[in-house]
Amino acid sequence: MKKFFCVLCVLCGFNSASALDRQAFTFTDYNLRIKVTPETQSLEAEGRVTLRNDTAQTQGNPVLQISSTLGWNSIAVAGKAAQYLTEMYTSDIDHSGRLSEAVITLPQPVPPQGTVEIEVKYSGKILQDNARLTRIGVPAQRAALSDWDRISESFTGVRGIGYVAWYPVATEAASLREGSQVFETVEAWKRRQAQTNFSANICAGEYPTEPAVEGIIANVIWGEGVGLTHIGPPGPPYMMCSAFAWRQLQLTVPTFVIGDYQRCAESPIAIRCLAGHEPYARTWAAAAEKTALFITQWFGPRKRPVQFVELPDKNMYPFEGGSVFFTPLVSGPEKEKEIQVVMAHALAHASFQSPRLWMDEGLAHFAQALVREQQDGRKAALAYMDERLRPLQEAEKEFSPAALGKQSGSPPKGQPLVDSVDEVFYRTKAMFVWWMLRDMVGDDALERAIRAYRPNQDKHPSYFQRLLTEQFHRDPEWFFDDWVYRDRGLPEFHITAVYPRKLIPQDWSVTVTVENSGGAGAEVPVAVRAAQGEERKQLEVRAHEKAVVRIPIAVPPQQAVVNDGSVPEFDMNNNTAEIPVAETPK
Ligand SMILES: [Zn+2]
Repeated sequence: MKKFFCVLCVLCGFNSASALDRQAFTFTDYNLRIKVTPETQSLEAEGRVTLRNDTAQTQGNPVLQISSTLGWNSIAVAGKAAQYLTEMYTSDIDHSGRLSEAVITLPQPVPPQGTVEIEVKYSGKILQDNARLTRIGVPAQRAALSDWDRISESFTGVRGIGYVAWYPVATEAASLREGSQVFETVEAWKRRQAQTNFSANICAGEYPTEPAVEGIIANVIWGEGVGLTHIGPPGPPYMMCSAFAWRQLQLTVPTFVIGDYQRCAESPIAIRCLAGHEPYARTWAAAAEKTALFITQWFGPRKRPVQFVELPDKNMYPFEGGSVFFTPLVSGPEKEKEIQVVMAHALAHASFQSPRLWMDEGLAHFAQALVREQQDGRKAALAYMDERLRPLQEAEKEFSPAALGKQSGSPPKGQPLVDSVDEVFYRTKAMFVWWMLRDMVGDDALERAIRAYRPNQDKHPSYFQRLLTEQFHRDPEWFFDDWVYRDRGLPEFHITAVYPRKLIPQDWSVTVTVENSGGAGAEVPVAVRAAQGEERKQLEVRAHEKAVVRIPIAVPPQQAVVNDGSVPEFDMNNNTAEIPVAETPK
């Protein structure tokens, strides 16, 4: 009877999924030994995970989740096997779309702020798996280029949470069908585990011939916290091992690759390329050299190394894993500019870091547009940004004048850029915001503000606005309100009136009235075009307002245009007005 009672009370702890608090514990320390066998595409893991109870209640049922293609072999606490139930748990934080979840019953519940060390063993295969993407309708071929994680003989690449739960995590279910839920779940996990220490000793084998010296690579800073790859035993079959330590994860997702890697460049960027691809790496290193000076002028000296790891298929989607970029090394003279643009992103990250995504990623994308401008001028940079505009227009469409006209009640909340974890916002929208700021305040003021930025002093969302105000001597608060602190959608410009006047002797003055029917204001370029050339002025047009600008021009004006593409707006097709023939002064 006593025994029966015990079983019951164990079950009542987690008989319904909603009673479980999957976020009760913070994972503060990982110590894992991983063995990868490429030949059988399998992984075996054992080690310790330390959990801290961050709730106000005593907790007795921690949850551990790993990828659904891995299975639990044993879970122990203080050397004794612990009781646990396993279950498949549907969640898109893993490439397979499911997790193997273990709900543990601790022998001793953990008080608030108490910790427990859990010994784990698990194993299974990691094959390429596109289930989560194909079930939301992504074509299989494209899905495979995005979710490229796998263990295989030719290439092993395994990213952590958000891709493959190769180490235990605990999250609430997230679905790719639910907007940005997966990003939000992964981002919240990363932020919570930012102080976590993570060490993994990763071994791979067995190989009939001696493997490459750089055979196992992880996204730690190379040379720091990395044990040299150790190859042994003498003679086949060979096994190689590397020890990696992520001292405080920050926002890094622990990732490792295994393959026939070589050291192909060291400075100004370090590249590990696949055997035979050394010439590609040299092209990339040369591009870095060309771009590095320009980027340090804008973003300051490099504070961490720039490290690249080659992905084997030239179509694979690149992955930013902390200080390491995983990317195919496409090459050839026709790719030179493109490589410089990629390099700008990596170099900007090396110089500038911020805990705020819209700054950290937004500035790296802005750096890419700047390099595009340096290569081929402003038009080329705007065309580069325009290629990314459509998803932003789509993401903001609930704010379009048409949508707001139909809607009654309170306005939509949207996603304020300052804390958005949606890539369209913190990458694309942020890139435009930085570009607009630059057009408003000028290169010098923006560069100085960027270089004065200190991540450890960034305690308040308005910190950067303050730095910029110091340099610019004017407070662009309205702009930060419309674009950063709140989501007010995009502007929507059109020209409501244009009036040319002929001055004496050879000059014209064109008065242009611009209306912004969108919810975000901007300083937008207005141009008056003639058969030869054009004249342009910046015009501040606040949300739901009109503004007037007078533009002098020395040749007969023909057309007025608002917005050269530097301000993202809903509709760029209603931005021109023909200029009637100017009346001659009496
Ligand atoms: Zn980035």
